[in-house]
Amino acid sequence: MIQTRSLSKQFGAVHAVDGIDLDVREGDVYGFLGANGSGKTTTVRMLLGLVLATSGDIELLGESMPSSGRSVLPQVGALVEGPAASPHLSGRANLATFDSAGARSRRRGRDARITEVLEQVGLDASDRRPVRTYSLGMHQRLGLALALLRRPRLLVLDEPTNGLDPQGIREIRKLLLDLNASGTTIFLSSHLLAEIEKMCTRVGVLDRGRLVLQEQLDTLQVPTGRVVVHTPDGALAAEILGRLVESVDDGRLIVEGNDAVEVNALLVGRGVRVSEIGPLRISLEDVVLQATESS
Ligand code: ATP
Repeated sequence: MIQTRSLSKQFGAVHAVDGIDLDVREGDVYGFLGANGSGKTTTVRMLLGLVLATSGDIELLGESMPSSGRSVLPQVGALVEGPAASPHLSGRANLATFDSAGARSRRRGRDARITEVLEQVGLDASDRRPVRTYSLGMHQRLGLALALLRRPRLLVLDEPTNGLDPQGIREIRKLLLDLNASGTTIFLSSHLLAEIEKMCTRVGVLDRGRLVLQEQLDTLQVPTGRVVVHTPDGALAAEILGRLVESVDDGRLIVEGNDAVEVNALLVGRGVRVSEIGPLRISLEDVVLQATESS
């Protein structure tokens, strides 16, 4: 869905993006991670033809960008910093203006299309208020609604949960996962590791313009040879497991070993109540730190 080869962008002496080879496949929820200033927004803007690359190639949906933008971009929904909405118009009117623009505009079904995307992003109750009265989170939702109007095959989103509260973040995450389940490939940039960890199937990590890591998330999160146990009977569990216990922290035990089933059977057999148990995997945070430190 997205392929780049040696994609670079320089601003004067600054190598904002430095020779990256992105590989985003159909069906991915691809998390594009990087600290502030690492080059995420510049990359997203190049993908969408909003900024010209200094060198390198881009293919979106198998076609070369920016030369094939006219045929490709109508199949791509995008949310890049600061959605360009007219402040004096309502959310609904903004969507109608956007929907009527462009060569493929269809008047038929417009109202229904707009109602559907407003509901999807949770803005249906505020659809007739002028956009200037919207909060940052509502602006973000409107931007997403704009991105969804053309039922895109690919969504490219730059920090889509910016400005949203935890409840809003959860709603947008659910919306994106639902869209993905119905066949939309999603590429989203974020500096929030936890968010990427919760929803992505594949991650790319940008560090000072370079792609230092690109991999399936489950391949990265390898087991550590330890089991994590949650129990209200921490002291008893620690006594039973003895030397296998590496740490006990408020009902959370880290235990040496790979076999969570065996540890569970041992504990439950001795009357310990286990609320949660499983292999301890390397966190995405550790993976990213390792990748950026060694680059
Ligand atoms: P953030 O999360 O803060 O948005 P980012 O990862 O999206 O960061 P970019 O905005 O792509 O990073 O910026 C990458 C680098 O390129 C930064 O050093 C930035 O200062 C520089 N840069 C970006 N746009 C321009 C520009 N128009 N002119 C000069 N330098 C720029």
